[in-house]
Parts: sequence; structure tokens; C-alpha cells
Amino acid sequence: YQAKEGGGSVAAYDPARDAASTDQLALLAELREALATDDQLVLALQPAVDLATGAPTGVEALIRWRHPRRGWLGPHDFIRPVENSEQLGTFTRYVLDKALGVAAGWAREGLDVPISVNLSARSLLDPKLPVEIADALRRHQVPPHRLVLEITETVVMSELEVIDEVLATVRAMGVQLAVDDFGTGFSSLTFLTRIAVDELKVDRSFVIRMADSPEAAAIVRTTVGLAQELGLRVVAEGVETAEQRSVLAELGCTAAQGYHFFKPMPADKIGAVLGTLLDEARPNVFPLRADG
Ligand code: C2E
Ligand code: MG
Ligand code: MG
Ligand code: MG
Repeated sequence: YQAKEGGGSVAAYDPARDAASTDQLALLAELREALATDDQLVLALQPAVDLATGAPTGVEALIRWRHPRRGWLGPHDFIRPVENSEQLGTFTRYVLDKALGVAAGWAREGLDVPISVNLSARSLLDPKLPVEIADALRRHQVPPHRLVLEITETVVMSELEVIDEVLATVRAMGVQLAVDDFGTGFSSLTFLTRIAVDELKVDRSFVIRMADSPEAAAIVRTTVGLAQELGLRVVAEGVETAEQRSVLAELGCTAAQGYHFFKPMPADKIGAVLGTLLDEARPNVFPLRADG
């Protein structure tokens, strides 16, 4: 256990770390099976709503793993190892395919709502990604503007050229881009000068703190102003209370997502929810009650 102190070149043996990596290898083997059998990985869907009208502005797809032995796993339990494995490409295509399948179903029901998919930074390093996205859109007959790709700013630090090229190609196809967790990265503002995007998602950490932190409130207000100035949509994430909702409205934010509105829900529930939201948001041309 003291090998490090002496020589410096020999790594100390750490049984805990060894066990952890063995477990990750097992998990990745199980993921390979899950991707092949197609009955374990499911998307949870969470609408974002317009704060003025209540209309759905989009729906985010969030991956869940119904593991046969480990139970329900969330992204934090497996995304990191997947990102560092050669299965990332397969995983990314799988999620895109599932999400576009869901969006195709909405189109058949006349629901015109875009679907947002989270992309791992590393998947943007694959120059084949734009073609794969184009193929998937064609297969599901979903128009490109109904797909929003959520990317995080930390993506952006390394290997800029490949990523810029992939993102520019995808956006030129008509696919929309959103900056996820906006404000938490290191280079967000520079990023906005390099890559044209359509939406900023205000990170939950600012939403949580804005009621009692003037700094957090200022960041939210500034992000909203920046979005307006650049002609982008802005969505606050992680809204859990009515108070946060009204503070956001005061700060000029137009759309929000979070448990206060909806928790992520199964695919078989989302269609009905969207139908109701769209109906309720529709302007009442002939009000049923004149005093309402
Ligand atoms: P994110 O994209 O920022 O997603 C928002 C996360 O906040 C989701 O957690 C969502 O369930 C959760 N959330 C939504 N509303 C509330 C709220 O009001 N309160 C709280 N406390 N949480 C809320 P989830 O599903 O565990 O996802 C975590 C992260 O995993 C995501 O962060 C995203 O970065 C990543 N992720 C999710 N699905 C995928 C995927 O299919 N592919 C990749 N590459 N990453 C994914
Ligand atoms: Mg997201
Ligand atoms: Mg986010
Ligand atoms: Mg977040």
C-alpha cells in the first residue's frame, strides 16, 4: 500500500478502486445486453411550460434503466461509465431513436411539441453523428425542428473544432440546440459567440437560490436578458414551488420545467398530458362563462 511513497512511478494498489472498476465493467456488460434486448432502457418525459399560457414549450427525454437485478437506475448511476466506453455511440443512437419514436407518435395525434434529448459531450466528437441524426429523423418522419439537442457548456472546452463542426452541421439541418445547465460551465459566453443556439436552460442551482440570493437572482435575470437580446428561448429548470414560479415570472423568464409542474413521466402518460395542456392553453374565442 505504500508503493507510491517510495518509487513514485508504481501506483498503490487500492482494493476499493479495483472493486469499483470491476463493478463498472459488469455494468457496461449489462448495458450491452440492455441495448441489445430493448426492454430495459426507457425514457421518462418531462414537459416544460410557458409561464404565461401554460402551453407546453417542449418535452425533455430523460433516460432510466429498469435493471433486472439492480432495480431502477438513473443517469447518475451509469452515464459516466457509458461516456468513457465504446458503447457511447450505440447508446446515443438508442436514445435518439426512442425519443424520435415518441415524437412521431405525437405527430400522429396532432401534437406539435418538440422533444429535447440530452447529448453527452463526447458523442459530439463523432463526425458521423449528423448523418445518424438525419437518418433517424427520416426513419421516424419527424421534421428536424421538432428535435432539440441539449448540450452542456463543459462540452465545449476541449476539441472545439470537431464539436463546432458537428453542431453547426446538425443545426444547418434544422435541428435545434439548447445549452443545458446554463451558467455552470466556464466558457458559456464564448460558446454563444461560436455556436448558434436556440435555447438557454437556466440551471436548477440558480432557481433554488434565487429567492434568498441576490446573486442567483441577478444571474437568472441576466440570463433572461441575454436570451432576449440574442433572440433565444429561455427555460428555467428544477422549479419546485409556486414561489419560484412567480419569482421567475417577475424576472422575465417565459418558460419553466420542474416538479412544480410535472415530474418526469412514462411515455404512455405524456400524450394525454400534452393534449390537455394544449387544449387549456388554446385561447377561448367564445368564452363559456362571461363572468369567468
Ligand atoms: P439535466 O438535463 O439537467 O436534467 C434535469 C434533471 O433534473 C433530471 O434528472 C430531472 O429528472 C431532474 N429534475 C427535473 N425537475 C426537477 C425538480 O423540480 N427538482 C429536482 N430536484 N430535480 C428535477 P435525471 O433524469 O436524473 O437526469 C440527470 C442528468 O442526466 C440530466 O441533467 C442529463 O445531464 C443527464 N441525462 C439524462 N438523460 C440522458 C440521456 O439520455 N443521455 C445523456 N447523455 N445524458 C442524460
Ligand atoms: Mg437536460
Ligand atoms: Mg439541465
Ligand atoms: Mg441541471
